[in-house]
Amino acid sequence: DITVHAGETVGIVGESGCGKSVTSLSIMRLLPKVNAQITRGSILFKGKDLLHLSEDEMRRVRGKEIAMVFQEPMTALNPVKTIGTQLMEMPILHLGYSADAAREHAVKMLGKVHIPRADKLIHEYPHQLSGGMRQRVMIAMALSCSPDLLIADEPTTALDVTVQAQILDLMNELQEREHSSIVLITHDLGVVAEMCQTVYVMYAGQVVEHAAIDDLIREPAHPYTQGLMRSLPREEDGGSRLSCIPGNVPLPGSVKVGCRFAERCSQAMGRCTRENPPLLRIAADRMCRCWLYAENGAAEEGKDSHEQIS
Ligand code: SF4
Repeated sequence: DITVHAGETVGIVGESGCGKSVTSLSIMRLLPKVNAQITRGSILFKGKDLLHLSEDEMRRVRGKEIAMVFQEPMTALNPVKTIGTQLMEMPILHLGYSADAAREHAVKMLGKVHIPRADKLIHEYPHQLSGGMRQRVMIAMALSCSPDLLIADEPTTALDVTVQAQILDLMNELQEREHSSIVLITHDLGVVAEMCQTVYVMYAGQVVEHAAIDDLIREPAHPYTQGLMRSLPREEDGGSRLSCIPGNVPLPGSVKVGCRFAERCSQAMGRCTRENPPLLRIAADRMCRCWLYAENGAAEEGKDSHEQIS
């Protein structure tokens, strides 16, 4: 389960192919219908199960109550519509604004994300803006109806470090002002350490560790998290080769039995290739999916993981 409390920033980390974006798209019910289906579990948002909503009801949730900032703003923004037209759509649709009021709102939102000359920029097209400016527009659009939950899928990956820092500051600032909850999806543990209170580490479609960010950074429990931490460059290691986790994330469904990380794990035991470990509670507010902790008597938390937003 993934739980997000009001006003909290939760990180979801893992390599590419671990299921981070699929998780966020399933919350929004935006998975492609041709090859994806949610077969069980529940997605609880303010007491209602999003999986039971009709498409019309879900459309009212998207953008208004739950909004998303996509990884690559150039492909997420419509290239043939002006910034203003795209920003005006949601207040007209969800808040019932007139065109004039929505335009005024769009300019105000661009101002909130520190975009200069916003009244001129609403007449421009996405290709006329830099990457950082486009990402700001995406954030302004996502926050346009003051959503309760903002899902940011790798919001800074395509940006250079200076702009990345500005965007993270901006998200922090806006969260304080709007009191939204944020789910931050990233493969960058540095970004998580700066932004999040709690973090879920995903591997091959499952949560393998859940902890408060300080505990995770100080003492990662799961061998996969330990590998991720070791691969971060540290000042004291200056000049030496960076460590890496050997191998790749397995394709979905390719590991039929045993721990999904076993092939890459330096601590694997006999049991690891026979049984997939459940999520074990290893401390009051900490969980880990690894047989090493079962040996120490950790209690089983649940057999399956599904997404739960409450
Ligand atoms: Fe490694 Fe075994 Fe733990 Fe999986 S269950 S992470 S293979 S030690």
